[in-house]
Amino acid sequence: MADNVTPLRPALTSTDTTDPELAPTCGRCELGTLKPDRARMAFWRGEGLMVVRNIPAMVCPNCGEQYLGEREVLGLDRMRGEGPNLEPAEIMNVPVLDYRAPKRST
Ligand SMILES: [Zn+2]
Repeated sequence: MADNVTPLRPALTSTDTTDPELAPTCGRCELGTLKPDRARMAFWRGEGLMVVRNIPAMVCPNCGEQYLGEREVLGLDRMRGEGPNLEPAEIMNVPVLDYRAPKRST
């Protein structure tokens, strides 16, 4: 269970996602008013990438920053630990670009 797992985006504050009346302002851009939405996150597990969709979150409509509640952070931790034992809802094809040798498609 000690795989090296790194979130693609910095996670997360403990904004309370259970109270939509709270309507907090985004702490990143300080412009957007957070709205309840579904978030998507991706994690590296060794050489493999795992995507989790449909995560309840507060999302900034201005800059796209996602804020997860404590319950969702714990749930994601559990999923990351269980990763290989969970049945994927779907398999995505992901383009991999080489930063040192980018090629243009014609
Ligand atoms: Zn924002």
